[in-house]
Amino acid sequence: MVAVKEVDFFVIGAGSGGVRAARTAAALGASVAIAEDKYFGGTCVNVGCIPKKLYSYASHYHFNFQESRGFGWEFKSAPQFNWRTLRENKKKEISRLQDIYINLLRTSNVSVYEGRAKLLDAHTIQVGEELIRATYILIAVGGWPQPLDIPGGGLALDSNAIFDLPRLPKRLLIIGGGYIAVEFAGIFAGLGVQTSLSYRGDKLLRGFDSDIQRHFTQEIQRHLDFRPQTQITTISVDPKGTLTVTYTDGKEQEVDAVLAAVGRLPRTQDLGLENTQVKLSNSGQIAVDEQLQTNEPSIFAVGDVVGHMTLTPVALAEGMFVADKLFGTGKRQLNYENIPTAVFSHPNLATVGLTQEQAQDRYHHLKIFESNFRHLRHTLSGSNERTYIKIIVDAGTDKVLGMHMMGSDAGEIIQGFASAMIAGITKAQLDNTIGIHPTAAEEFVTLRTLSYEWKSTEELNLS
Ligand code: NDP
Repeated sequence: MVAVKEVDFFVIGAGSGGVRAARTAAALGASVAIAEDKYFGGTCVNVGCIPKKLYSYASHYHFNFQESRGFGWEFKSAPQFNWRTLRENKKKEISRLQDIYINLLRTSNVSVYEGRAKLLDAHTIQVGEELIRATYILIAVGGWPQPLDIPGGGLALDSNAIFDLPRLPKRLLIIGGGYIAVEFAGIFAGLGVQTSLSYRGDKLLRGFDSDIQRHFTQEIQRHLDFRPQTQITTISVDPKGTLTVTYTDGKEQEVDAVLAAVGRLPRTQDLGLENTQVKLSNSGQIAVDEQLQTNEPSIFAVGDVVGHMTLTPVALAEGMFVADKLFGTGKRQLNYENIPTAVFSHPNLATVGLTQEQAQDRYHHLKIFESNFRHLRHTLSGSNERTYIKIIVDAGTDKVLGMHMMGSDAGEIIQGFASAMIAGITKAQLDNTIGIHPTAAEEFVTLRTLSYEWKSTEELNLS
């Protein structure tokens, strides 16, 4: 009979949330084990944030080369891009990061199991031939790209496969209008691929502030063929490998590759959840309470499989929260307000706090400050790229409710303002901040012109 190992805490999934929870719990004195069946570091390290950002850097060189002429740089022929070099260098870097993740776990005294973990009951896990009993279990298995459910949908690449294409396609069609679709659209357009983006709606990035959506949807069309209000019904392939997609209006388009970026699904299959009381929500995520505890008191879940906000830093915060709750002081708080986020599209977008639509649901009187300008760099670069920023303020308290930006380094800029928002910054305090000149960021502290005020019907009736 197989000996059963006993641990305080067993983590299923060594992605961002799982690794952070395991290491935090081990540092707090718990005996911890973790299982991973795919790749250490999870989506973010392997097929998400990190390789995507590396590819995004690669694509930005294209624009930098173009823009450098206005600054006096001369070169006889356009620089050539080598996809193989980028892909192989990326692979080496990811492999280095994977090793770091495994070493971090081992040096933190976390026992590492390589294989798919299955729950046999509320405290027992099987990995291959091994059985482990744990006082507490954490499910941190993440998500997986949603397939394109149309005839020939299997011919489309997903956001995992796109990273390791054997060769760069000449013509690429991307389906979707969320983070992944617009990030890859910017990347491949920058790398010189003829890129089309088919979105079933009008304005990209649903859920973002509608002005940011509008400005971004205009801006992105400078680099690629945007096809709003379109949906494809079939994909077929000819013997040479050329793909033909058919749209709902019957029109066809020939491309060399299709990327389906139509969302991600929680990866809950074959986990043995049926052997426990763990329940799924209607949309398939693991259902948890505000303590991230499932219906089964010994089992918790964090990250994309829960889907509160499918962002790496949220998974990290949730992982630390569960470890602290179970093995620490239990005082760590989870707060989903004012979580900053960035889209590494071309141009970048970043946001913290409420969109105007959310603010209008909660407040009666808002002041909206906006600035739409040409970045200093583009006075000489020849680029027409615009930078747009927006600040949403509660007129009653002067509190800043939302800060939004489209433009270079938006993520770097909004990160700092996110701390100010957490501290409850007012517009007067923003105005009292000295700018750093000349930067785009200073616009957030020098912006005085009120664009307009918004009042709820109730407020209008009162005034
Ligand atoms: P999203 O849910 O953000 O976007 C999915 C897109 O696909 C939407 O535009 C949706 O349209 C469209 N869509 C869905 N189903 C279909 C369909 N059947 N046919 C055509 N279009 C369809 O998912 P993503 O995959 O882009 O990203 C998943 C999550 O990963 C993000 O929400 C984000 O949290 C995270 N992420 C974060 C990044 C970052 O921090 N920079 C980068 C990448 C991902 P509609 O709008 O009409 O629903």
